[in-house]
Amino acid sequence: MKIYLDGNLVEKEDAKISVFDHGLLYGDGIFEGIRAYNGRVFRLKEHLDRLWDSAKAINLTIPIDKKEMEKAVIKTFLANKFSEAYMRLVVTRGCGNLGLDPGNCVMPSVIIIADSISLYSEELYNNGMEIVSVSIRRIRQDSLSPNTKSLNYLNNILAKIQATRSGVMEAIMLNSEGYVVECTGDNIFLVKDDILYTPSPSDGALAGITRGAAIEIAKNKLKIPVKEERISTYDVYTADECFLTGTAAEIIPVVIADSRQIGDGKPGETTLKLIKEFRSLVRLTGTPIR
Ligand code: PMP
Repeated sequence: MKIYLDGNLVEKEDAKISVFDHGLLYGDGIFEGIRAYNGRVFRLKEHLDRLWDSAKAINLTIPIDKKEMEKAVIKTFLANKFSEAYMRLVVTRGCGNLGLDPGNCVMPSVIIIADSISLYSEELYNNGMEIVSVSIRRIRQDSLSPNTKSLNYLNNILAKIQATRSGVMEAIMLNSEGYVVECTGDNIFLVKDDILYTPSPSDGALAGITRGAAIEIAKNKLKIPVKEERISTYDVYTADECFLTGTAAEIIPVVIADSRQIGDGKPGETTLKLIKEFRSLVRLTGTPIR
């Protein structure tokens, strides 16, 4: 496996950063998860734009420009001889001293890892998964915007631990007002009376790129109205269908939430149509890798 590290492709064993990097010491840095299918990188521009927005939000200057990053992504993908891959882009604050001040950090590090990922088994895509609401709330937007994909994911990790401890793989996270916002690494959608609902970024949801693709497919292909509005756990329990979206998870049906069966307990018709359209979209669109 070849890793991109600060301009060079290095072997996995040699892909190391300093213990003084503030990415490690404080979670001070940003990341993106990108996917390549069928020799094409899905929504590369959107991912890079979001990475640059995260950088701006934490006052970090990425040491290369978007064009160079695009080339680096493609170079890393090609070096690993994948036809499909999950790529992780990381920009750390860089090496500093043991104080918090990023002003002491010399130069951000840019890391690109290409690997395979399969978060959930095929069985869960066919039969649907179970989710559970947890007591850990999503960090308030006035503290840290959920749209900043920072290296500090402890909030989500604590929620994930709670879910897995109750034997469930994904958690429903509520905002400080108690409304459903998203899961630990996925956005959440409901279908009720042929309308698609999903929490809005203004309620604390990450503006997920898969979320955006699902909204587009629903509106343009399936001709289903989409409403970005506040949803509660009651809305989840009484929905006809529920599914999650994320770069790693893609679109996955949910059939049980907090021990309540959703709809008839099987992946819904709209969810299955969305999965089918999404799988075709990712194979046919995207930046070709050459
Ligand atoms: N919410 C959170 C908290 C996430 O970490 C992710 C994964 N990046 C998502 C939602 C889904 O976003 P995307 O579709 O862009 O991967």
